[in-house]
Amino acid sequence: MKKAIIDIQESVQNAKQICITSHRNPDGDAVGSSLALYLFIKKINPQVQVVLPNKYPSFLQWLPHQDEIIFFDSNNKEAKKWIASSDLIFSLDYNDLTRVGDMQVALENSNATFVMIDHHQQPASFSKITLSQPEIGSTCEMIYEVLENWNKSLIDQPIATCIYTGIMTDTGSFRYPLTSSRTHQIIGSLIDHGADNSAIHQNTFDTNSYNKLQLLGTALANLRLVEKHQTAYISLSQSELDKHGFQKGDTEGFVNYGLSLNNVDFAVIFIENKEEGIIKISFRSKGDFDVNQYARKYFNGGGHKNAAGGRSELNMDETIQKFLTTLPNVK
Ligand code: 5GP
Ligand code: MN
Repeated sequence: MKKAIIDIQESVQNAKQICITSHRNPDGDAVGSSLALYLFIKKINPQVQVVLPNKYPSFLQWLPHQDEIIFFDSNNKEAKKWIASSDLIFSLDYNDLTRVGDMQVALENSNATFVMIDHHQQPASFSKITLSQPEIGSTCEMIYEVLENWNKSLIDQPIATCIYTGIMTDTGSFRYPLTSSRTHQIIGSLIDHGADNSAIHQNTFDTNSYNKLQLLGTALANLRLVEKHQTAYISLSQSELDKHGFQKGDTEGFVNYGLSLNNVDFAVIFIENKEEGIIKISFRSKGDFDVNQYARKYFNGGGHKNAAGGRSELNMDETIQKFLTTLPNVK
């Protein structure tokens, strides 16, 4: 860990141009870690840019300096230029180049030195400098450790706000098992650095649209319980999404309602995406059931032990049937 941190500091000081990237459909941890590292590095080496594969949901569109991000899908030329001309590329909150969607080819064609800072299991081997800690609850927590070790006095309010947001979203507001006493110490330190904890929670969680809550109503009406396997699942079809004017991010957190049921330790949500011709699936578990392994084995995905994602190219009914037939094998 210490060695990798020193290598990171040296590579930033020596780089001519730096590009910070994260995974497709960026979440709070992806955007928070990218912006925090960007704002910090800018104080040391101004030739730095965040390039993300695509836009993130509106509940994150208040983060400081987010208007400086370049998106690969909507500003393709500029994004490609930054990737191609950078000699140092950060891969934050992902550990496999397949996670960046259409940006993958541009990254594969780059001659830059790659630095991975990530907390997902089973990292691939594309990076020269690798900081991989699946035992840590968020990439933002890892970024805090890197920056504190580097120069704590450079952590200002915007940086503290971005890190706080990523830790908060990736730990389910500080309640998932990887939340440690160190996590809380870091949160305390971020508040000391100016992060307004109450405002951050409000900006992120209390800005729901009416449509989103109506969609949640449909999701809860579709909730099914498989008592025998302590499993709950939800499905949302494209027409149900359309009916409630679905916007990116509206289904964030829905899967957790299944997991909140008494005696349920495995919860799944199936969300139809007609445009891509797939069913996007989120898996969550409590305790020992490993949804990373499950998603890898059956649904072409992966993630963490208690939170993973995957996809299916079958239709909704077939996908659910496949899912139900796997249950006796795994639980
Ligand atoms: P979500 O269900 O919120 O999309 O994803 C949950 C977790 O699993 C996140 O940490 C995410 O990075 C990871 N994840 C989601 N989809 C995939 C996938 O297709 N492959 C891998 N390896 N990880 C995924
Ligand atoms: Mn993360």
